[in-house]
Amino acid sequence: MKKQKIYFDYAATTPLDASVLKKMMPYLKDKYGNPSSLHQFGREAAEAIDEAREKVAKFLGCKSTEIIFTGSASESDNLAIRGLVKALRRQKRAGERMHIITSSIEHKAVLETCKDLEQGGVRVSYLPVGPDGLINLDDLEAEITPETDLVSIMYANNEMGAIQPIKKIGQMIAKSNKFEEHLTYFHTDAVQAANWLDCNVKELGVDFLILSAHKIYGPKGVGVLYAKEGTPLHALITGGDQEWKLRAGTENVAGIVGMGDAIAQLNDAASLRLVTLRVKKLREKLVADVLIKIPGSKLNGPKNSEDRLPNIVNFSFEGVEGEALVLALDQEGIAVSTGSACTSSALLPSHVLMAMGLSDLEAHSSLRVSLGKYTTLAEVNYFLKVLPKIIERLRKISGR
Ligand code: PLP
Repeated sequence: MKKQKIYFDYAATTPLDASVLKKMMPYLKDKYGNPSSLHQFGREAAEAIDEAREKVAKFLGCKSTEIIFTGSASESDNLAIRGLVKALRRQKRAGERMHIITSSIEHKAVLETCKDLEQGGVRVSYLPVGPDGLINLDDLEAEITPETDLVSIMYANNEMGAIQPIKKIGQMIAKSNKFEEHLTYFHTDAVQAANWLDCNVKELGVDFLILSAHKIYGPKGVGVLYAKEGTPLHALITGGDQEWKLRAGTENVAGIVGMGDAIAQLNDAASLRLVTLRVKKLREKLVADVLIKIPGSKLNGPKNSEDRLPNIVNFSFEGVEGEALVLALDQEGIAVSTGSACTSSALLPSHVLMAMGLSDLEAHSSLRVSLGKYTTLAEVNYFLKVLPKIIERLRKISGR
């Protein structure tokens, strides 16, 4: 029998959409100009970037001049947070400390950046989350002081899919900004949200929002930073004048074209609704069947399905090592993950699951299944057929 090849790791990266690749190809071959060059080759490349920028701006409901292309979402997170700190530092009086509020379940691109800034004297408050993976708005309100410079809360979590109330947070910050001379800026990492949720920056009330092309069926190596007009921001990579002097370096033209095309597909609301409904249905079946068929299984993350992304589920299986489970499923041709791709080689329990109050053992026995627009019912059924047998076998081996 032909070995299965089932991809259930869309939160780690998505396949490149064939039509996106087609749009990129000319810029990898014949249209190779440097966008900074004045001649026709350069102009052609610059126009392609402008077009892509317009498409991203349309998706986010902002001006194209508010869009900065970077090399990854991690870089965009860094540029937003460090770039703001760098800009504000120049405005502060000597000895005046900076303050950032973030959550304990952010992606490492935010958490490690904040930890690094702490070394440089920035005060950082890490908000806890409940067992459902959601922050408490009262905790946030209590933490915001007249000195708070930045709130950075992710839109949706990459390990268990919890959706944070970004719009409410935006309103809370806008309210506190009304009465203060000092402004608190608001950054959200919308990498996992972009395929499913409204990312209109005005609706959300954010000053910074970041995206990654390779999570929306675009190419790897392209990130986006939305920075609201007038928001203080300094470049981290200095050199040429590219990207409004905020990110030097010759642009990844083909990648940016790919990002533009991938995001244009998300602008098609009708087809997006259909994909969302289909994936939600597959997820509901997957969750219900796993919990019924496998004793000692537990769903991690929000209980209310409206508080979670349609495509990410995270389980813990009593008496089973997550890594062993990933490898056993891989042998059956099914690609899943234990946590975020960036930390899964570290073999440390996931900081997200630990923050939600799971024990070390529960966190080590976790499995993330993430679906996408190409997932089929046949693939879900195959997974549901092999998973119980694998778990039974692994439990026998471990004697638990
Ligand atoms: N933020 C979130 C929520 C993510 O899931 C990821 C990727 O796993 C990133 C940031 C980093 O994205 P990139 O690979 O483009 O740096």
